[in-house]
Amino acid sequence: MIGRFAPSPTGPLHFGSLLAALGSYCQAKSEGGRWLVRIEDLDKPREMTGAADDILRTLENFGFEWDGEVVYQSQRSSFYQNALSQLQTKSLIYSCDCSRKEIADSYNHRPPQHGIDGLIYPGTCRHKIAVKTPHASRVIVNAEGITFNDAIQGKIQQNLAYDVGDFVLQRADGLCAYQLAVIVDDIEQGITHVLRGADLLDSTPRQIYLQQLLGQPAPQYAHIPVASNAAHEKLSKQTLAPAIHTAHASTMLTQALNFLGQQPPKDLSNHSANDILQWAKQHWDITKIAKQRSIVLS
Ligand code: GLU
Repeated sequence: MIGRFAPSPTGPLHFGSLLAALGSYCQAKSEGGRWLVRIEDLDKPREMTGAADDILRTLENFGFEWDGEVVYQSQRSSFYQNALSQLQTKSLIYSCDCSRKEIADSYNHRPPQHGIDGLIYPGTCRHKIAVKTPHASRVIVNAEGITFNDAIQGKIQQNLAYDVGDFVLQRADGLCAYQLAVIVDDIEQGITHVLRGADLLDSTPRQIYLQQLLGQPAPQYAHIPVASNAAHEKLSKQTLAPAIHTAHASTMLTQALNFLGQQPPKDLSNHSANDILQWAKQHWDITKIAKQRSIVLS
């Protein structure tokens, strides 16, 4: 079993990302597996200087030990280019120079169709002969439907043609899109189990589709509920989730275990972070996690 934690360095580790770190760690370590850390620093404009180091230091101070070297997406563009070329050879991608406004306008008097992740791309550039530069690359989807069994959320179904449309794999600024980078790395790192926040549940069918196109098996997915505030917004840098501090490691880890339904003993928070992780590995039970996409933090 190989699991991973893949934070984007857009800010320090917060309670929401601690949940994904702890859950993926326990899942792999409770089975004697490996746990890898990958810094998803592709989107340089969204990155916060120093956040990657800060996240790694916080993980260490919380007692997490990862296997092997930390991998940085910013150093892996050759892997992504290689995957793009494979799809290109199979004529599965095409260039697209549509702006957001052009996509909305291309619905020609019909109301624009919103899918699970913004406007459904209506395929405008699929048959265009000459596209302007700079342009993005999109992958062609079909209406066959993708179904998978999430280890926490159960059966998930999506139809990429109706819910998403042809989606971007390489942005007009040349950066590889998250959907492609994440599966290329999961494949290349041999990841067998992905445990992460349920905010990524809707992205998973796109990722499974890309794995299929590249002839690779999908890992087993498990999506934990995300922690949200009273306004039902996911705790994130954007909603100003408080960073977590090493001084409160034991309390935060115990709270995270409670959030994940693991029912730690009441006095566990009086123990060291290392002891808490030991307990967590030994008692990990994925079936105790709430089958919900979000839980309001009280
Ligand atoms: N980098 C993503 C995030 O921080 C997580 C990607 C993943 O786990 O697949 O939200």
